[in-house]
Amino acid sequence: MTTATTHEFQAETKKLLDIVINSLYTERDVFIRELISNAADALEKFRHESLMHGEEELFDGHMPLEITIDLDEKKKLLTITDTGIGMTKDELLANLGTIAHSGSNTFLTQLAEAARKDVSLIGQFGVGFYSAFMAGATVRVRSRSWDGSEGHEWVSDGTGTFTVSECPGLHRGTKVIVELKEGCEDYAKKWKVESIIKQYSAFVPFAIKLEGETVNTVQALWTRNRSEIKDEEYAEFYKFIANVSEEPMYRLHFSTDAPLAINALIFVPKDNLEIMGFGKIDPGVNLYCQRILIDQHSETILPEWLRFLKGVIDSEDLPLNISRQALQDNALVAKIRRVISKRFLKFLEEEAKKDETGYLEFWKTFGIYLKEGITSDFEYRTELGKLLRFETSKSADGTPVSLSDYLLRLQPDQQEIYYINGPNRAAIESGPYIEMFRKKDVELIYTIEPIDDFVLSYLGEFEGKKLVSADKADLKLGGEDKPVEEKKEQAEPVLDDQVAADLVGWLKEKLKEQVADVSISKRLVDSPAVIVNPDGFMTSSMERIMAAGRF
Ligand code: ADP
Ligand code: MG
Repeated sequence: MTTATTHEFQAETKKLLDIVINSLYTERDVFIRELISNAADALEKFRHESLMHGEEELFDGHMPLEITIDLDEKKKLLTITDTGIGMTKDELLANLGTIAHSGSNTFLTQLAEAARKDVSLIGQFGVGFYSAFMAGATVRVRSRSWDGSEGHEWVSDGTGTFTVSECPGLHRGTKVIVELKEGCEDYAKKWKVESIIKQYSAFVPFAIKLEGETVNTVQALWTRNRSEIKDEEYAEFYKFIANVSEEPMYRLHFSTDAPLAINALIFVPKDNLEIMGFGKIDPGVNLYCQRILIDQHSETILPEWLRFLKGVIDSEDLPLNISRQALQDNALVAKIRRVISKRFLKFLEEEAKKDETGYLEFWKTFGIYLKEGITSDFEYRTELGKLLRFETSKSADGTPVSLSDYLLRLQPDQQEIYYINGPNRAAIESGPYIEMFRKKDVELIYTIEPIDDFVLSYLGEFEGKKLVSADKADLKLGGEDKPVEEKKEQAEPVLDDQVAADLVGWLKEKLKEQVADVSISKRLVDSPAVIVNPDGFMTSSMERIMAAGRF
């Protein structure tokens, strides 16, 4: 037998441990959830391997797939054991010495930020294994890989180094022994641990045995009949998969039989961590086949712009032993992706019809992803177009409206939909572009976010009407002139043709470096001049963004 070797934690891991140990003690309970979730992940991985290879061929293939929790109040020990995939020596060194998930400093900065702002956000980052040091003075991990190689023990007190030594006689899987700190003795008490499991881990798809007794009901909620599922069960399930304590904003549970058998349970969260400044989020939907997890945080089962969704998609039509690589160019996966994305967008449309105010809440929080969808994914443009909301010259301040609403207010001979970009309503309304629109009573969409002009030009048209930026040179506004209310006290000054031509000539000469052309226009009402765009693709707002390199 070899003696123990000592290793330094990677610098980032040290920082993470410092945050975990010193700032997160108010959220201590989550360490049990994290360890159980690792055990469940390891069991899922083993189950997947045994489907590919046949369990007879795998080391300790006969062992039941379950999680066992043992408590020792006297010795202040909490032990969590799984019969999952296990870790080799190298894996112990790599997985429990570095930040496996994301070794970057950004992650740490975000984590420190979250710890400062709102500790309950921490769960959503998955602090993971290191959370064991919130309650553990010492943590021991004994593990043996499914490849049958010799088992090892990893030990650390979380302060800078850990040791690894051989540990003969282990079964396949992992045992995490937490030697509880002073003040954390409750985690060796059955009532305490049981209540944490009920709160956080009720939906783990493997039996959790607490001192010999199974404490969770293993079930795949999404495969049950909708009418039999209570709202609370849905809410609990959501909290479990999303690692949050609030309820979701929306829920969609649906199944199809033909031509594809799909069962999907999808949630929209309350918050958008990305706009709260936490960087790009991982996709939140997991792919199952006959209740067996085949792709966690799947990047392929939904388009990237739907990454904010949480939930489960289960299809028995998929081959169980499909590899992650093969999922990417699987035609069936592409079909499922299309069916579910379209169904979800239809769901949003229905929700908006039922409750526009509720939908506007969604739009405010997640609308940016739908805009991303339009600019990145041609396939869903028509559906996404219906879900857009913008403020317009005829909408109430702060209450955006849909393009369909806009169409209801078209002037009799109006052929196009018009929009104009500006930093806010007031700035747009005091600018020259809007004058003729006002005069003809033609509604003008205000695109206030920098990305909006891209979105509308990618969209191109809506229900057969072209989307046109109001700063284009050649506008063909329909609409009757609005009856002029203000009384004319002075005779309208008339510009002599020759004087006008001279003025144009003079301006062209003066501005020849800056503009392509100068011409006489009838679009202005009060302003003497306006700068417009030659009829290209880019609006002036888009040009500004491109010039600033922001897109
Ligand atoms: P994450 O679960 O997000 O990957 P963790 O910090 O929780 O991050 O775990 C780090 C890694 O350690 C895991 O990705 C996994 O490879 C390994 N690991 C942790 N616990 C176990 C376990 N019980 N069995 C097998 N591997 C484990
Ligand atoms: Mg984990």
